[in-house]
Amino acid sequence: MISIKNLHKSFGELEVLKGIDLDVEKGQTIVVIGPSGSGKTTFLRCLNILEKPSDGTVEIGGLVADFSKPMSKKQIMAFRKQSAMVFQHYNLFPHMTALDNILEGPVTVQKKDKAQAKEKALALLDKVGLSDKADSYPHQLSGGQQQRVGIARALALEPKVMLFDEPTSALDPELVGEVLQVMKDLTQEGMTMVVVTHEMRFAKGAADEVLFMDSGRIVERGTPDDVFNRPQEERTKRFLNLIQ
Ligand code: ADP
Repeated sequence: MISIKNLHKSFGELEVLKGIDLDVEKGQTIVVIGPSGSGKTTFLRCLNILEKPSDGTVEIGGLVADFSKPMSKKQIMAFRKQSAMVFQHYNLFPHMTALDNILEGPVTVQKKDKAQAKEKALALLDKVGLSDKADSYPHQLSGGQQQRVGIARALALEPKVMLFDEPTSALDPELVGEVLQVMKDLTQEGMTMVVVTHEMRFAKGAADEVLFMDSGRIVERGTPDDVFNRPQEERTKRFLNLIQ
């Protein structure tokens, strides 16, 4: 579903991604861990071209983006549709209800039939456990509820891949579980997901593979059991000792 080759990203002089290679099968959940500043968010944003990579190729769902060549706006838009991002700070439109936030992508951007899109949006609200909150505005919702709307909004775009950028790190601890549960449900339904998170319980329980990133490289990768219980690299061991 995803094939990444030699992905590089620099901000000016600062090289943040130093050649990432990764293949992800359909239905797999990949969890990316690593110290702050190691490039995890930049990596995720590059997959959706929210940041334009400096070099390398990314293939998602059969569509290839080759960043060694210029890309047209149309090519970028087409490639973006392959994936949808869930952000740390939800990024909901504050003046729109939960339902309208979910409808914005399908109706305004993708020009889908409004009645059909609404039916789908209501089903998605139900899926994330918020069928009674369709008409609520973001400020009337808890952080956990807002993030579940954020997930429903991303799903409404019908992406082939879901990208999660620290989706629970802005939440009060007691609200983290409800968001992780929705993500676990998606994993079990066979969604392909790349998740940057500090929630090691989620990584242990839901990841097919854990990637440890440091200084713009994938330093170590493996099953959660391998990475957490038998880390091979010193840098991984040090990081795990600090957080566990
Ligand atoms: P992580 O998600 O692992 O904490 P980031 O991908 O957010 O790491 O950041 C990696 C490095 O890239 C950091 O040094 C950060 O300061 C830098 N960086 C991220 N975004 C930008 C940007 N838009 N402009 C300049 N530097 C950036």
